[in-house]
Amino acid sequence: MTELFDRHRAVLPDWLALYYQDPIEITHGEGRHVWDAEGNRYLDFFGGILTTMTAHALPEVTKAVSEQAGRIIHSSTLYLNRPMVELAERVAGLSGIPDARVFFTTSGTEANDTALMLATAYRGSNQILAMRNSYHGRSFSTVSVTGNRSWSPTSLSPLQTLYVHGGVRDRGPYAGLTDERFTEACVADLEDLLGHVRTPAALIAEPVQGVGGFTAPPDGLYAAFREVLDRHGVLWISDEVQTGWGRTGEHFWGWQAHGENGPPDILTFAKGIGNGMSIGGVVARPEIMNCLDANSISTFGGSPVTMAAGLANLSYLLEHDLQGNARRVGGLLIERLRAIGARADSVRQVRGRGLMIGIELTRPGTTEAAPETAAAVLEAAREGGLLIGKGGGHHTSVLRIAPPLSLTVAEAEEGAEILELALRSA
Ligand code: PMP
Repeated sequence: MTELFDRHRAVLPDWLALYYQDPIEITHGEGRHVWDAEGNRYLDFFGGILTTMTAHALPEVTKAVSEQAGRIIHSSTLYLNRPMVELAERVAGLSGIPDARVFFTTSGTEANDTALMLATAYRGSNQILAMRNSYHGRSFSTVSVTGNRSWSPTSLSPLQTLYVHGGVRDRGPYAGLTDERFTEACVADLEDLLGHVRTPAALIAEPVQGVGGFTAPPDGLYAAFREVLDRHGVLWISDEVQTGWGRTGEHFWGWQAHGENGPPDILTFAKGIGNGMSIGGVVARPEIMNCLDANSISTFGGSPVTMAAGLANLSYLLEHDLQGNARRVGGLLIERLRAIGARADSVRQVRGRGLMIGIELTRPGTTEAAPETAAAVLEAAREGGLLIGKGGGHHTSVLRIAPPLSLTVAEAEEGAEILELALRSA
């Protein structure tokens, strides 16, 4: 145990999750690599949990941040703020929501909390529909719509939440159905639910469940839901905290795989946009965004330094077509990992879109989750110089891969090789 770990344990909460038996202290990064305090170099396949969207220490972002910090660090609240207006214009334009308004927060939790406040105020209802196995944050309201119990430390709730089927494909009553039948079954479940509850304010959903193990419903599920929700006047909140900014390769937003019946009413984002700086936000049509009848601010939301980071990062992402890179390199990596998975007894499924790839592990020959194998693979990959994540709800049996979107083919190959050895040794 390091001296820092002992100090950490003495002063920080026991429930603050840490990876690895001997946790890593990351001291610096560059591109797709990070270094620890002992000088070990790691290929980063988890992007600081998707916060490093483009690359570590991206010079364009560092320059924008230091220049803005040299001028003024914080003046966002109650005064006009040029970087905030500029980033809001760009996000509004990209969101797909007509005449969109944007509110900046400091985290995904605060973004979803705001979305829930807007939806409940707009609809005059505290009933919320959420997906099983979901994760939306750690505040009181977002925990209340988080179906993933391993991340919901309290069941006391300010909201009345009803959980809908559709997040998990391969477990539960609809396991094994074709895409079409699965969608039909989930839509019928939603219809049935709406037939005997009061009027919910909104459905909140991640287009691809992140913490829940990178599980995606069939394309079009939320478009089919939308049709039903519209009939009941229920809003659709798309939580794009993990799926936004091109991460899934095919689309800029996750909702676009479900866009036939239009964009979501409310979109939330965070993580990657600041390339590590804390930016979250909510996008909505004006009548929803403006439904609050009292003033509200987020003291640090939209702070000029984070906005400068967001602007530089977004420009880099678009100019270098990192969404296309996620599609191309992610596609190759998924194929490579599928081939590796076919040779490994513990791999049940390799799934994913773009650079959001999940490897589900089970006890060999069964469908039983294997959290201890996932933990062992994580440790072995670290030994090999690769950082990956894990997740998957109660089961924590899914390896999660989400590198910075600038990942090269050579790095994808290198990471896949380390992972193959880790799977063999675990
Ligand atoms: N929504 C989703 C889909 C997330 O994955 C997360 C973070 N893991 C959050 C919300 C919460 O974001 P934050 O940790 O920035 O509060």
